[in-house]
Amino acid sequence: MSNASPNEPCDACGEPTTDALARTVRLSVDRANIDTQRLCPECFAEWIQRYQAEMGGGTDPGDDADSEIIID
Ligand SMILES: [Zn+2]
Repeated sequence: MSNASPNEPCDACGEPTTDALARTVRLSVDRANIDTQRLCPECFAEWIQRYQAEMGGGTDPGDDADSEIIID
């Protein structure tokens, strides 16, 4: 099964999403890849909002020095 489907589902809502529209989000902490998600534009927007809210609303803003978010 090496066929790459052009319409793989969004990891959040399961809706088929084309490569052109999909966003792949990789969350790295300490250079370890801890989370990768393929998201449709709607879920991507929600994910970013949630991520920024959590990062910005934390009690320790300096704690994110070792984590980074990579968006392809
Ligand atoms: Zn989605």
